[in-house]
Amino acid sequence: MRPVELFRHCPRCGTPRPAENHNQSPYRCGGCSLAYFFNPTVAAGAFLFDAGGRVLLIRRAKEPSAGKLAVPGGFIDFGESAEEGLRREVREEVGIEIGRLQFLVSTPNLYPYAEVTYPVLDLYFTATAINPDDARPLDAVLGIEWRLPRDIADGEVAFDSLRAALAALRGTL
Ligand SMILES: [Zn+2]
Repeated sequence: MRPVELFRHCPRCGTPRPAENHNQSPYRCGGCSLAYFFNPTVAAGAFLFDAGGRVLLIRRAKEPSAGKLAVPGGFIDFGESAEEGLRREVREEVGIEIGRLQFLVSTPNLYPYAEVTYPVLDLYFTATAINPDDARPLDAVLGIEWRLPRDIADGEVAFDSLRAALAALRGTL
């Protein structure tokens, strides 16, 4: 179920929402002036390199894609820049600091959570890990691995969006 399908009534005036309006964007209420935008939420992920050209991967502890490989990152909070949110997520998940973030590519993603599938725009960056030896699995992370990008098999990767970003990364190396 997509977020728009949860809105059976206008959240401002209560007018029922026509069921056929799933693809209308923004959703415009027929009973009041409300226009509600169902745009993707924003997430950011980082390919963090050590001095040997390896990138830091996390093994996800939670669904979706528990047990699969991903990169540190997560959803951007209200009021944060993508860079601020990404530095926060890197600290929370693997406990390290990172150098200057360089934008790599953005890829659309679908994130199923609690029976709702959320559209997400993933922003991928590259950066150098400042203290790579301190990296350790923390929040929602089963384990960490340092791998050369060419040694990461597509089937091990958690999301299609990350597979696409990995292909873009390999194209820059
Ligand atoms: Zn309304």
